[in-house]
Amino acid sequence: MSCRRCGTCCAKGGPALHGADAALVLDGAVGLDQLVTLRAGEPVHDQLQDQILPLAAEIIKIRGPHGLTGCVFHLGANAGCSIYQARPLECRLLDCENPAPLAEVYAIDRLTRTDLLGPGHSLLELIRHHDKLCPAAEAFRLARDPALSTRRALAELLSADRALRSAFLDKTGASLHLADFLLGRPLPEVLAPLGLRLSL
Ligand code: SF4
Repeated sequence: MSCRRCGTCCAKGGPALHGADAALVLDGAVGLDQLVTLRAGEPVHDQLQDQILPLAAEIIKIRGPHGLTGCVFHLGANAGCSIYQARPLECRLLDCENPAPLAEVYAIDRLTRTDLLGPGHSLLELIRHHDKLCPAAEAFRLARDPALSTRRALAELLSADRALRSAFLDKTGASLHLADFLLGRPLPEVLAPLGLRLSL
């Protein structure tokens, strides 16, 4: 069946990018500030097991207008996709009545921040530093432990994430959206699926 362009799948969330999509970013059809990184270890809902599990490896998705819901390229029911002719692989393979083509490639050849920036990019050092200082997997582990000492450790991790993010934004003048690609989303947003109150 061909795509009816109803926008139902676009409203749920943007696609993860694969190797075949790299040219979209390199050619400028998709900007880095239109992407969001989900870091390894972040809690995500696993549809097969119907539970929140840590993400096995980093993925890059097209972000929504606000957060992960929807796709920034979806212009509404009447206007459809603003990059339809060059839409990413997952969008091209998605078939409402036959999930097999998308399922075949879903976990294969996913792009990372290093792939998109290039291995020698100056911002990779910042990305590595942030991943080491504020690992998403550790935040997830701490967030599931109700002990008071663990809560303090989690508060320190959230504080370090917030401080590094603000220092980066102050120093570079980058947009919040670009920070969400380079550093992933702020940890309170990342941990929101766990239903915790994490404001500091
Ligand atoms: S890129 Fe286009 S087709 Fe893909 S989810 Fe976004 S609006 Fe829909």
